[in-house]
Formats: sequence, C-alpha cells, structure tokens
Amino acid sequence: MTDTDTEPAMPIAQVVRSTEAEGPGRRFAVWFQGCPLRCPGCCNPEFLPFTGGQPTTATALALEMRVARDEAGIEGITLLGGEPFAHASGAVALAAAAQELGLSVMVFSGFTLGQLRERRDRAVEDLLARTDILVDGPYLREQPDTERRWVGSRNQVIHFLTDRYSLDDQWRQRNTLEIRVRGGEITVNGFPARDAVGLWKGWKRKKPPALRSTPIVSGQPVLESR
Ligand code: SF4
Repeated sequence: MTDTDTEPAMPIAQVVRSTEAEGPGRRFAVWFQGCPLRCPGCCNPEFLPFTGGQPTTATALALEMRVARDEAGIEGITLLGGEPFAHASGAVALAAAAQELGLSVMVFSGFTLGQLRERRDRAVEDLLARTDILVDGPYLREQPDTERRWVGSRNQVIHFLTDRYSLDDQWRQRNTLEIRVRGGEITVNGFPARDAVGLWKGWKRKKPPALRSTPIVSGQPVLESR
C-alpha cells in the first residue's frame, strides 16, 4: 500500500492547468465542489452542492502542478469554488504542495478574512498562513467590479498576505474570460461582463458553437479548441 492509497481525497469540480483569468500571471486553477453560501448570481451554481465532483488527492494534483510549471510556466495556483475554506484541510495540502514547487497561492473565498479568523480553526489558519493573495467576501451582483481585474464585486477585498504580490498594473486591466472547447464539452473561466453571465450555461447543454463565433463578452476573451 502506498501513501497515495491512504491519502484523503477532496472533491474537485474543475481544474484548469494554465490560465490567465484567475489571478496574476499564468496559474493552475482548482475549483472545489461544495459551497455553503448562496450568492445570487453565482457564476458556478453547479459547484455549490457538496455532492459530486471528482475525488482527487493533493499528491495527484501536485504531479499536474509540476508538469504545468515545467511545460506552461505557471507561477502559482488559484483555489476557488465552491468554497476553498469549506475544504480547508485539502486546500492546505494543495497549498503546501504548490509552495514546495516554488509556486504562489491565491484563494477566492465567499467569507471575509475577519469571519475566517474568528473561526479559530487550525486548517483555516494554516491555509491563510500559506496564502499570498486572498480575495474575500461574497459575490454581490448589484455591485459588479469593473475596475479590478479578477475581482467579481466591489465589496470584495484583496488581501496581500505576503509581500510576494502587490496592487500592480495587472490588476487594473480588464477582466479576462477564457473559453475552452474540447470535444463536445465547453469550459469557461474568468469573469464575464455582467450581461454575459450565464451565457455559456446554455452552451454546455447544447452542441458547442462554431469556433468562428466570438463570445459576447468584454475584456480579453480567449476561445481555444483542443
Ligand atoms: S461564495 Fe462563491 S461559489 Fe459560493 S455562492 Fe458565493 S459566488 Fe458562488
């Protein structure tokens, strides 16, 4: 029996191995399956139930991170959801694996930093200690943020918990939306313009659009086909 056989698995909803739509630079993004919050207008309602997702170990994802670092030049990982702090133990393991590879850690949470610290939960504290950038707070669709790249709504606060990053020019560029078409499946990540939220949900249930078609979004849409 190997360590991997006994290692706890965490429910993962989606992985994008190299993206520029989820934080500074090129990043390895992991969406957890399961969020206890219910922000109206949430972009990922299918990631909210605590059932489903793909059970995955930190060791397995660490192997993918290494390949992404060596082949795609990622500089960090981004944890999203779902709610990463609802899966804090697994998220800590992922953050630790990323740091061993020299990668930075960014986390999006629907909870505020104050709420997280009030919990006095060891795994939550460990994850915060390993986080370079935390974007916190629930998504408020009536307060869309058009000034800060990667941030969904104006109430959300960017916390630079280490000195690895700062509010540089990257944050002032327009939001990025990436759309990938693989076989019959479309995956989308990044923040779309407000009037384009949910546009792709219908696409997921139908056949993919012709690759010539341009998504109706603002920012810097990327349409990839593989
Ligand atoms: S915290 Fe994030 S994933 Fe959870 S409901 Fe709000 S927007 Fe959706």
